[in-house]
Amino acid sequence: MVIVAHPDDADFGPAATAARWIDAGSVGRLVCCTSGDQGGEDPTLDPLELAAVREAEQRRAAGVVGYDDVRFLHQPDGALANGLPLRELLVREIREFRPDAVLTHDPEVLFYRGGGVNHTDHRAAGIAAVDAVYPAARNPMAFPNLVRAGLAPHRVRRIYLFWPGAPTAWVEVGPTLDRKIEALRCHPSQFSADEGFAERMRAWAAEDGSAIGARSAEAFRLVVLDDDDDQAPPTA
Ligand SMILES: [Zn+2]
Repeated sequence: MVIVAHPDDADFGPAATAARWIDAGSVGRLVCCTSGDQGGEDPTLDPLELAAVREAEQRRAAGVVGYDDVRFLHQPDGALANGLPLRELLVREIREFRPDAVLTHDPEVLFYRGGGVNHTDHRAAGIAAVDAVYPAARNPMAFPNLVRAGLAPHRVRRIYLFWPGAPTAWVEVGPTLDRKIEALRCHPSQFSADEGFAERMRAWAAEDGSAIGARSAEAFRLVVLDDDDDQAPPTA
């Protein structure tokens, strides 16, 4: 399950990894917390019309990657907040889909290594996803209304944080990098994906690939969750 702030984040993020795992037999689902209704430069644009355009773009891109479905939580773009309402929406998605792994934004990155500020919605979506995974989704006493509605607690086993400050895991994406680029071309409201764009994406993947001696990769910070009831603090 990929959880992101905006339409197109997942395609700039872990799309090639998702496509590889889906090709290998995994079932993937995409959750977009917002519909990107502030993602434009024209103040006369109707935000709801823009949201509809961006949802359609994301659905087309999701078809390229191979997700089984895209869920939009319709939270406000530019104002995403990690709190109980968003956590409940995410716990609902996690308990319904029951993923082994959740891929989401690294919430600890405020400034990117290469420069630039990590959007407030990215940080909010990342920390909300982490808080939904642990402990809420697995705790039967958290959101008992969802349990009563038939959504039993669920233990996610791994969290993969993309665009990481300090990567610890890499997925080689040679076979699916072109699908990622094709998925990105499904977002014409956001950028024009010219030839130079594809080269930039390949160069970006090559940079991550160089860490593991591969031609192209996507980098993550991997968090492995124990099967024990609670995460034991370090003993030393
Ligand atoms: Zn974004």
